[in-house]
Parts: sequence; structure tokens; C-alpha cells
Amino acid sequence: MDLESIYKTVVETGKANDPRNEKEIQRILDLAAEEYQEMKEEEKVYFDLDRLWNPYSDTRILNGDLQTEIKRILVGVDMEVGEILLADRLTERGTRIDLVLAHHPAGYALAGLDGVMGMQADILAEMGVPINVAEAIMKPRIREVARNLMPTNHRQAVDAAKLLGFPFACVHTPADNMVNTFLTRLFSEKGTETIGELLKALKEIPEYAQAARENAGPALFVGDKKNRTGKIWVDMTGGTGGPEETYENLARAGIGTVVGMHINDKNRLAAEKHHVNVVIAGHIASDSVGMNLLLDQLEKQDLEILPCSGLTRVSRLSS
Ligand SMILES: [Zn+2]
Repeated sequence: MDLESIYKTVVETGKANDPRNEKEIQRILDLAAEEYQEMKEEEKVYFDLDRLWNPYSDTRILNGDLQTEIKRILVGVDMEVGEILLADRLTERGTRIDLVLAHHPAGYALAGLDGVMGMQADILAEMGVPINVAEAIMKPRIREVARNLMPTNHRQAVDAAKLLGFPFACVHTPADNMVNTFLTRLFSEKGTETIGELLKALKEIPEYAQAARENAGPALFVGDKKNRTGKIWVDMTGGTGGPEETYENLARAGIGTVVGMHINDKNRLAAEKHHVNVVIAGHIASDSVGMNLLLDQLEKQDLEILPCSGLTRVSRLSS
């Protein structure tokens, strides 16, 4: 499978599992096309053409020729300079690495992480928050994330990959979409009624069971095990955490329990204030589930996956 096919496969699989509907995704692509058409000729060099077909600014090929044939991928949650060197050591010892694949964005995909956050407004709207409110509360949070990303030296790992000649890519939101859809479906199929049942259902998933053995398993942050969940919202995609106003609006829209990867203290307190239960499934374990579901699509094409950097690899191909 060549690098371009891998890139297209992960983006298309992410789109098929996006919590938004197709029309909303198409709207993002249309807006990008419009922006490009309206640009002055001399400004067009700054436009990232991938935006015309890939709605995820945090998912990109960061180095390598699109036609490179890939057989073995070194995959991890964070792939930094150390992991690029690891790929080089493995290759030198006889385990040839054809592609280094990260979950968390690096390079210009990290600098552009705020670009996917607009999807959170659409997701909140699907949960019952009016779109005008959802867009208004998201806007300052997106700007804050963009400002915080500005000083980042986002190119370190990319530069290392270039020097050592490794194709390098990152896939973030498509993987987060996978775990989001997977858990939403699971809770609805199981009909989990209480927080206790929900936590039990999570721990039956091998990645979360492994995390639980490593002191990083699912945890209850707000609420009580005996509480009824009410309507569950799985909040695992959309770039990074949303604004604290989310919880007041979710409570009003009828959401009883949020299942997330992580939560900051401001948001935890807001959830507590508005009586929304919060279950934190765990960050790296949730990232692993999302990546594993995507990697299954690649393994199907005979690609060999070598996990590292926090990724607990579980293949669901035979099940
Ligand atoms: Zn993550």
C-alpha cells in the first residue's frame, strides 16, 4: 500500500465515523474551496490544498513521497524525535520501518489543530444545544487554543524524520472519531443504566482493562456509581477540550453523563455545578482504541503494525 492510499484510507474511514452528518462535513470542504477561490493569486501559495478534500487539519503527511510503498509502520500516540530515532535503530537492526505514524499531531498539523475544533459546535447541536449558542461558546475557546499553539516548536520531529529520511504522518481526529462512534454504539447496545454499569462496560474493552492494570483506567470524576446515567454523550473528538459553558448547555439540552478522555478542573467544576456526571475513560487508552480501529483497516491490506509510545495494539479483525 502506498503512502497516499494510507492517508486516503484513514481520512475516509474517519469521515464515515464522524459524529457529524455528511452534509456538515461537505459544508467544511465547500467553505475551504470558497476561501481558496476568493484568495488573491499571490496569497494562494499559503493555502494548504489538502483542505479541499480532507476536513481534518490535524491529520497530514508530514514527510515522504506519496508513492512510497509501505509495508511496516511504527505507530504510537506521540511520535517525537526519540521515536524517529527508534525507527532508525530498528531499521539498522534489521526491522525496517517504512513509515512513522503518530496519533497526536505534529508539524503543521499541530499548528493547525484549532482548525478541527469547529466540529464541536455541530456535535453540541446534535446533542440538542442550539447551533447559535454552540458556535458562540466555541469561538473564544478555539481562539484560545490557536493562541496557545503559536509558540510551539511544532517541527522538531518532522525535521528529524526529514534528516533520517523517514516518511512521517499523523492521524488525529479520524482516530478520535472511531473511538467516539465505537463507545456511543457500545453504550446504546448494552443499555447501560447506571454509572457503575458504564464503568464496567468500559473495563471489558481490552485497551481500558490494560490501562486499569496500569493505574490509568476509567475513573469517575463527577457523580456516584449508583447514579443513573441519563442520556450519555461520548466526548472524545473535536481536537481538544471545549469551553466550560458546555456543561450548563448540555444539562439544559438533557445530557446526564459525559464520557471523555480527559477533563480540566474548570470543566470538572462546571459539570459538578450543573449535575452532569463525568466519566473519564482515560486518555492514552482511548487514543489506543481509536487508532486500533483505524489500524485494522490498514492491517487488512497486509500492512504490519509495530506499536510503541503508549499504543496498546488490539486487532479486532478476527472478531
Ligand atoms: Zn489524545
